[in-house]
Amino acid sequence: MTVRERRLRWPIPAGLESAIRGLVVRAVERRAKYILIRFDAGTLILHLGMSGSLRLVKAGALPRTHDHWDIRLEGGWILRFHDPRRFGSLHWTRADPALHPLLARLAPEPLSDAFDPEYLYRATRKRSVAIKQFIMNSQVVVGVGNIYASEALFRARISPRRAARRITRLQAAALVSAIKAVLGAAIKIGGTTLRDYVNAEGSPGYFRQELFVYERAGAACRVCATPIKQFTQGQRSTYWCSSCQH
Ligand SMILES: [Zn+2]
Repeated sequence: MTVRERRLRWPIPAGLESAIRGLVVRAVERRAKYILIRFDAGTLILHLGMSGSLRLVKAGALPRTHDHWDIRLEGGWILRFHDPRRFGSLHWTRADPALHPLLARLAPEPLSDAFDPEYLYRATRKRSVAIKQFIMNSQVVVGVGNIYASEALFRARISPRRAARRITRLQAAALVSAIKAVLGAAIKIGGTTLRDYVNAEGSPGYFRQELFVYERAGAACRVCATPIKQFTQGQRSTYWCSSCQH
């Protein structure tokens, strides 16, 4: 491993280069926005921050500005981390990464069995916040961003303004399956094209063509032809159909 800049969101631990030298990668996993690279001796916990990206480059490729670290792999490849704003981070733990302070208190993954209708229904009780903001809260469920929250609420036919505690059991079930369906479809297609999103091969995602409401303000609802409406919730744009969603 070569570190060119240790000062990321947290400093890269001293001695990491020697700690991982010669180790075999056993698995690469994800938990919330953290990437876990597992070795027998421990786990690297990596976060891309606001602007970080990982690329595989050929050994010998010259680093660009903001290329902060490299991990040399077998076969002449380098895993290279690029991050202009340096909000990304890299931690090393020899313990179970699920117990690491960054991960220990994260809410369930939306595609896991733990995120089920009963969980969502119980979590919404006594919560007066709007359901859209509720499902975007990473202490409720991780990884449901603005696009997917808007789209899932449309599929579940629930108004984004509805108070979380007013969701019925049936609606909780509809919303859980809508969130799983929207995320599953986006992953299958390869993500949503945002300003700077690219996949590992450097290509943009293609989910955008599949959107029903997101960034379609004024356009006809694909189900009922009512113009899609837009308003702001918690500094984020919400898009919805006032005829399909209640
Ligand atoms: Zn509609």
